[in-house]
Amino acid sequence: MGKPVQGQENTEHELRSALPRPGLLVTDSSVIAASCQDFRGWHKGEAVALARPRSVNEVQAVLSVGGKLGCAIVPQGGNTSLCGGAVPSEGSRPSIILSTSGLNRIRAIEPHTWSVVAEAGCTVAQIQDAARSEGRHFGLDFGSRDSATVGGAIATNAGGMSVLRYGNCRDLVLGLEVVLPDGQLWSGLRALRKDNSGFDLKHLFIGSEGTLGIITAASLKLHAAETVSASALLRVDSLEAATQFADLALEMAAGELSAIELMPVMGIRRSCELLLRCRPPLDLSADWFVLLRLAGQQSLHEKLETLASRALEMDLCSDAVLSQSAAQETQLWAIRDSFSELHKFLGASIRFDYCVPLGRIPELYRRLCAAIDLITPGFVPFGFGHMGDGNLHYSACQPEGIEASDFLGKRKEIETVANTIVWELGGTVSAEHGIGQLHRHEMSQQKSSIELALMRRLKLSLDPSDRMNPGKIF
Ligand SMILES: Cc1cc2nc3c(=O)[nH]c(=O)nc-3n(C[C@H](O)[C@H](O)[C@H](O)COP(=O)(O)OP(=O)(O)OC[C@H]3O[C@@H](n4cnc5c(N)ncnc54)[C@H](O)[C@@H]3O)c2cc1C
Repeated sequence: MGKPVQGQENTEHELRSALPRPGLLVTDSSVIAASCQDFRGWHKGEAVALARPRSVNEVQAVLSVGGKLGCAIVPQGGNTSLCGGAVPSEGSRPSIILSTSGLNRIRAIEPHTWSVVAEAGCTVAQIQDAARSEGRHFGLDFGSRDSATVGGAIATNAGGMSVLRYGNCRDLVLGLEVVLPDGQLWSGLRALRKDNSGFDLKHLFIGSEGTLGIITAASLKLHAAETVSASALLRVDSLEAATQFADLALEMAAGELSAIELMPVMGIRRSCELLLRCRPPLDLSADWFVLLRLAGQQSLHEKLETLASRALEMDLCSDAVLSQSAAQETQLWAIRDSFSELHKFLGASIRFDYCVPLGRIPELYRRLCAAIDLITPGFVPFGFGHMGDGNLHYSACQPEGIEASDFLGKRKEIETVANTIVWELGGTVSAEHGIGQLHRHEMSQQKSSIELALMRRLKLSLDPSDRMNPGKIF
């Protein structure tokens, strides 16, 4: 058994007497430790307790007793945040991590209202499966689908692969149930497609990263089942050709295009070699590739073939592989899904989650490479992303022959130069991962003083003593 965090014994005792259900509270520091560290191991904090409520009443009880003891509450879903959002901040007041793992029921799924009501701790994959079993489709999808929860996704307004077709979380949420910082419950689980009766409060909580309350359940939109799909990997001649191909795909297959991803040769080669241990699906004699999926109700192979042939005729691509089976399609997407994990083979890296207006990814990529090379000659760029949204995930990786600490010592300089470029292009430093602890400084540079002041006023009015996830966003 680990010991309680030093000096926290009284708090622990009071928590235990107020929350006596066995299993609701964990105070063993050796168990809590795993929840105190973020997915990448970049952020580490401390907590006096880990609470695992199984009902809305228990969430209210945790908030209420936490409030009396002056503890911070850190909501945590799957802890896959890429910006340190779901772990206690260093140096903050005693924290209770509120895990939503026990709120994992699908309360109702209604094919006729095209909606599902799910508790916050349901994983994204769980909702995808539930929708599929009712002949419907849940349009949120990304690599961490098996661990990421719907509460975490809503709290970060997550996006992912299918935003160009179904939108991000903001577009998929119909209603929310939220426990407010003072323990009151707002039951806003509506399933309406239209409701202009005053402020649409759900939008306040979507993307609020746990700083305004605990989302306990959500009513979510469903779409028509994607009963058939077909994917293709195209070898494109340049970044510009990739962008033109994305335009072509949108023109020729707007209704069926469900994902279009930019993939660098280095990512495909190394993912096949190091992670998937398979032969690359086509000859890798170019710098850039595009992976796309068409999905719908009828066979899409012909449409995909026409699209690929048109791209060949227009000299946008020099080769393409079209999936011939579901297994082959899964293999193609496994390459894309592995890119996050691939970073562990790339040494130290400085990562960005940028979004620029559509069509400007080539300019963004080139300017980033040129500017960062002046600071760290020989660094390795790894850029990939959701082309249809102008979202480039860009990592500057440690050059050979340079120590990780020397490379990371240039982080501030690299970030300053890179952010300036993205702002000059009219972009943002956080496309879909949120602000968390990682981007607080950049957010205050990106937004106007009026916007920042408005955000602070909203935060203050809901959470005057800054108990909800302190050190994140603000
Ligand atoms: C391999 C990989 C791929 C990824 N790909 C994408 C991608 O393509 N697109 C994308 O948008 N993101 C992506 N992410 C980031 C991340 O998975 C998503 O943001 C995800 O939605 C977070 O869900 P979670 O349950 O893990 O949330 P957590 O990490 O636990 O929490 C995220 C934030 O939400 C808050 N929070 C969690 N639950 C609640 C709740 N119930 N109420 C209030 N606040 C809450 C937390 O305090 C924290 O601030 C990826 C991450 C990984 C590891």
